[in-house]
Amino acid sequence: MNALAAQLVPNSKREELLATPGFGDIFTDHMVTMRWTADVGWHDPQVGPLAAMPMHPATMALHYGQTIFEGMKAFWRPNGQRALFRAKDHARRFNNSARRMAMPTLPAEDFVAAVEALVRVDGAWVPPTRGHSLYLRPFMIASQTGLGLRPAEEYLFSVIGTPSRPASLEPKAMRLWAAPEYIRAAPGGTGAAKCGGNYGGSFIVQREAAANNCDEVVWLDARERRYVEEAGGCNLFFVESTSDGPRLRTPPLSGTLLAGITRNSILRLAQSLGYPVSEKPITLDEWEQSCRDGRITETFACGTARSIVPVGHVVSAHQDWPVGDGTAGPVTSQLHQTMLDIHHGQAVDDFGWMRLIRTEDPTE
Ligand SMILES: *Cc1c(COP(=O)(O)O)cnc(C)c1O
Repeated sequence: MNALAAQLVPNSKREELLATPGFGDIFTDHMVTMRWTADVGWHDPQVGPLAAMPMHPATMALHYGQTIFEGMKAFWRPNGQRALFRAKDHARRFNNSARRMAMPTLPAEDFVAAVEALVRVDGAWVPPTRGHSLYLRPFMIASQTGLGLRPAEEYLFSVIGTPSRPASLEPKAMRLWAAPEYIRAAPGGTGAAKCGGNYGGSFIVQREAAANNCDEVVWLDARERRYVEEAGGCNLFFVESTSDGPRLRTPPLSGTLLAGITRNSILRLAQSLGYPVSEKPITLDEWEQSCRDGRITETFACGTARSIVPVGHVVSAHQDWPVGDGTAGPVTSQLHQTMLDIHHGQAVDDFGWMRLIRTEDPTE
């Protein structure tokens, strides 16, 4: 892939943008695109200037929802290098989503090469700040024109990047809204795929959460509306207090929640730090009772976009309880900081999660 020598945003403006907090609101200078058709497969990979995509009004993605995406991050390191976190694992999950949505898979090495190509050409957009990153959004849509109700035979894959600049290094504890009236995913549905429709259907509850002074939704299982599944775009972890010290628990991958790569990373990292972990279902009632009697001392949400965020309160129409003292607990903070150390190359990458990228940084 050859990059076009385009720089849309001047250096001084980019530095100003990178210094203001935000997420998903500004975009880097370039994008990667690649096409798939049933007769030739994947072809025509390009790195070009970020630009609008003209589309026929009957583009199938707009009507039948064949759209999938990933969210992953590149981090700046003190020695000026950039590194991607668990790129191959994101490629694997992208393909799982593709299979569920009857879309073509993309060889993992092509997926990683595409993401790398964008980070190489837009390396200057990786913010040079601990806890900040370049969020990468690989996605695929059905690009065929037609209204026939069937899987498309033409697809567009693309990667865009947006700098992620949290307002502070220590995230504020979230208030979660538990709404048993709506569900995110049901057994046999698309809950384990990162497909657009899963999110469109959740916004109504996110609005309800905001109206109740909450930051995010906690989703319950579809059958019994009792078991905690995940929190909008994040997986959940509970820190349980035992006579042998703290241990971690997270709901199992039931098929109705997203297999977070952060979730998997925390399961492995926590064990390496000496915390026992378990994947065991938990009901909303058990969560409440355990917080009240001190068996659960901390809860945190985790995902690529938000990293690790403490849960301070849980609210529903009938219940409202604090988790611990309503702020980040010691285990949550330790995991958060250790993860940041790995991201930014300040701890040994024992798990082989980071992939170093050679960039074409015009400022270097
Ligand atoms: C992406 C996502 C997550 C978190 O996954 P990560 O790989 O950790 O970013 C959790 N839940 C949902 C619904 C998601 O879309």
